[in-house]
Amino acid sequence: MNLLPGRQGAPLILVVDDERTIREMLQHEMEQAGYRTLTATNGAEALELCQKTPPDMVLLDAVMPTMDGFCCCAAIRQTPHCENLPVLMITSLDDEESVAEAFAVGATDYIIKPSKQIHWGVLRQRVRRLLQAYAAMQELRQRSAQERKLTQITAQVRRSLDLETILRTTVGEVQELLQVEQVAICEFSPVQGGRFTVESTRAGWPSVRSVSLPLVMPPAQNPEHYSTDWLVQVADGDEVTGDVWYGALVQRLGMQAFLAVPVVLGERLWGLLTAHHYSTPRSWLPHEVNMLQQLTMQLASAIQQAQLYQQLEAANSELQRLAAFDGLTQVPNRRRFDEYLAQEWQRLAREQSCLALILADIDFFKSYNDTYGHVAGDECLRQVAQAISRKVNRAGDLVARYGGEEFAVILPNTSLAAAMMVAERVRQEVAQLRIPHEKSAVHGYVTLSLGVTSTLPQPQGSPAELIAAADQALYQAKQQGRNCVVPY
Ligand code: GH3
Ligand code: MG
Ligand code: MG
Repeated sequence: MNLLPGRQGAPLILVVDDERTIREMLQHEMEQAGYRTLTATNGAEALELCQKTPPDMVLLDAVMPTMDGFCCCAAIRQTPHCENLPVLMITSLDDEESVAEAFAVGATDYIIKPSKQIHWGVLRQRVRRLLQAYAAMQELRQRSAQERKLTQITAQVRRSLDLETILRTTVGEVQELLQVEQVAICEFSPVQGGRFTVESTRAGWPSVRSVSLPLVMPPAQNPEHYSTDWLVQVADGDEVTGDVWYGALVQRLGMQAFLAVPVVLGERLWGLLTAHHYSTPRSWLPHEVNMLQQLTMQLASAIQQAQLYQQLEAANSELQRLAAFDGLTQVPNRRRFDEYLAQEWQRLAREQSCLALILADIDFFKSYNDTYGHVAGDECLRQVAQAISRKVNRAGDLVARYGGEEFAVILPNTSLAAAMMVAERVRQEVAQLRIPHEKSAVHGYVTLSLGVTSTLPQPQGSPAELIAAADQALYQAKQQGRNCVVPY
């Protein structure tokens, strides 16, 4: 007989009486009735035992030396795990006052032993009834605590949009909820079958992370059957053979209890939430299974939500990338240029280091377009952009299309002399492309004019100064005959 949930073996009864003969008779009676017993000769001793090994019930003599039954009963009610257990007072006093006092200190019931005579039949009945009521109440308490916990887990799982967090929270909380040694999540992939990816495991038990299940994926025609077909309960004493999908797992890892609840996403069997117990046999209460089924439904929507969010994030970052790049030349656009220049201006103002800027403009590009057409013009812009990018290599440098046939190069931590060298390299690289430009007044090929500047940014200043200076230098380069580099 095992009345109390979560406890192994027969109910444990603490017999407290100072008179040896009665104590031994009570103990004998209780053991005859199939209970386990502990004994104490006074209230203090009884209390100590309650603290060490909370019993399932106390048979308590009212009148004892040292600490009487009334004091002892009151103290038991303050002892952890003993707040609700049945205390049956055994008293030779049947006056109304004593009975009232017994109830006042929290006794569950009383029986009297007139002239030390106990009515054994009555005692046995009382003990049995009290234990049954206690077991039922404990189960209710446990159940409502679990349900509160379930609501809490669900809320927690639904709050997160990160799949990893969702799965980790779930296994951790379910392990605590069921008080099992391991809870894990097995994810299915159509190619590889099942694989445990997340677990919460009590210290000392084997990890199942990366353990694979040789699963034959079920046909997709009957998704409504997933929730029943894939619900597996192995409890104490169940034989598990090797021809079921979980057979090898349960046998190889030496599980005494195993529970698997499917996680179904729409039409797809996404995976399983599984609970494993190794050290002792364990049964799965119907309401526990039911709770996990409810939880996996919530889990499924949380997973779907997280997946949608991931897609949205990916789409967003792609959008952001698109918003920062020039569609024609695939280098950063003016928007990105402005943003980056402002950011570097502030950073280098703090750091008190130089910020250089090159503005480059294709020479006689209008006549290039007029001669070769806009399609060729576009292709020319692409090649020039690539040529410039090839010659600008440092991590913080940025090549951007500034507008039309103008490009800009931002060079953080760069002096004017160093920026001039970069500009000259760029000029040569573009000239060496040897893109024919027969109408150019300066060369038979496409060339660039470049204006270069560098400054120590001031916090109260503005990057517009830098642009104006580079533009001025570029204007000079055009004046000086084009295909050249001019500093400001
Ligand atoms: P300069 O040497 O003084 O810079 O003369 P330029 O002809 O290059 O200068 P101007 O500003 O007169 O002409 C710029 C030309 O660049 C005009 C415009 O049609 C062309 N252009 C601007 N953006 C694009 C583009 O996206 N594609 C093509 N094909 N042409 C463009
Ligand atoms: Mg121009
Ligand atoms: Mg031009």
